[in-house]
Amino acid sequence: MHQPNNFSRILNQLAAISSASSTPKRARKVASDSEKDGKQLINVVVVGHVDAGKSTLMGHLLYELGYVDQRTIHKYRNEASHAGKASFAYAWVLDDTEQERARGVTMDIARTAFETATKKVVLLDAPGHKDFIPNMITGASQADAAILVINATNGEFETGFENGGQTREHAMLLRSFGISQILVAINKLDTVGWSKQRYDAIVIQIKNFLTRQAGFQSNKCTFVPVSGLDGDNLTAKVGPDHQLNQWYKGPTLLEAIDALKAPKRMAEGPLRIVITDVFKTQTNSISLAGKIESGDVMAGDKVYFMPTAVAATVKYLTSDTESQCDQMCCGEQGQFTLTGVFEPDTISTGHVIVAGGPDTLKPAKRFLVRLVVFDIQIPIMKGTRAELYCHSMCEPCTFIHLRSAINKSDGTVVKTKPRCLSRNMSGMVEIETDHEVAIEPYTVCRALGRITIRRSGNTIAVGIVEQTLA
Ligand code: GDP
Repeated sequence: MHQPNNFSRILNQLAAISSASSTPKRARKVASDSEKDGKQLINVVVVGHVDAGKSTLMGHLLYELGYVDQRTIHKYRNEASHAGKASFAYAWVLDDTEQERARGVTMDIARTAFETATKKVVLLDAPGHKDFIPNMITGASQADAAILVINATNGEFETGFENGGQTREHAMLLRSFGISQILVAINKLDTVGWSKQRYDAIVIQIKNFLTRQAGFQSNKCTFVPVSGLDGDNLTAKVGPDHQLNQWYKGPTLLEAIDALKAPKRMAEGPLRIVITDVFKTQTNSISLAGKIESGDVMAGDKVYFMPTAVAATVKYLTSDTESQCDQMCCGEQGQFTLTGVFEPDTISTGHVIVAGGPDTLKPAKRFLVRLVVFDIQIPIMKGTRAELYCHSMCEPCTFIHLRSAINKSDGTVVKTKPRCLSRNMSGMVEIETDHEVAIEPYTVCRALGRITIRRSGNTIAVGIVEQTLA
């Protein structure tokens, strides 16, 4: 995360002080954080079985959109063919670390932004390799919609979808993170001569799975035939002589991405400022850095720090992108100076600022969590101790009750009250933190409802808070 250095921080604060003291309070703007430069912002995760062609598809799309220049792609082509992997040139646009190239698989979440007619799209390219499921989860937990890439090659679709492939698991994970829109790119259709029969057969199987098992609504699933390698049907309709032209009149990949609905942002939600740093506390004033995850805030607003419920008044705001401001909205980060009565050590990183009274975010200790367990050696059992991470907060916790184990491929409960949750399992669990914390259900505020569980320095599971229990 970008952290301003002390010097720029001080400059920003000075700027804020001079502006806030001289500027009369203005009327509140209507917050519209989902609009950036007139375009709606949407985070999209790209998932699919390893080798489905995710990186090639997105790399080629970026190239066609002009985000990668001729020289770079030429260089990648040369390097790729020298390495004996000529077909990976487009994938390298996204897989840009040496290690990824050497292995030919994407290891971390690559973040790339591009624009469509009406959207600003942040692409989270999640790795499909089995070892890297944790990264895929990180991507999915930040996404508003997903592109599922399917390899249509004979035999390959069957491997990815039916025989223990990752396609089903990825789709289930997307649903468990609350993603409801899915764009299915049926890729590598060049390898089956752009066969309509093959396309239709794959669409039927995937659609059945997505709607009947994974719980997607059918009107939220879109299918697009493409070839990432040849660049067909990505940003432009295929020519009249192309085989696809004989049977497909639907959208290109770009048009389908543009048609994804941007999520209802939290701009009109209740104020939630997650504190990421506390610079200076005096008896009657505090300076801190934070990110607005929901709602908006203005100088003069009366607010509360949770979980301590300490009351304060916002004095100055300094946004990271705009040095002086009267108001900051959801999605923005910045520095805040507040006045109030502050006892030493009552406010720290991980606390959350709310408005409208301390009751609007009830601090709690016990949570019902939908959990996805990583590839761990020691299973999670009742009584297991760990650390719970959520937004900028970390707190020791205990697994109090394992309610159920869930089948990752179809979401059904496989066992109630399991004795343990071992590697790669999913489940519903009750977790208790040692102290009260400012966490709330994912459906209320996504940023405050997504948790990571770590033990001895390793991430052992991630999840979303379904309910606050006590
Ligand atoms: P990822 O693991 O899903 O990111 O897959 P990659 O993008 O690395 O592609 C895996 C392999 O499939 C590479 O050799 C690509 O060149 C190849 N590939 C990707 N898309 C297509 C396609 O549309 N047609 C064909 N024939 N090959 C493709």
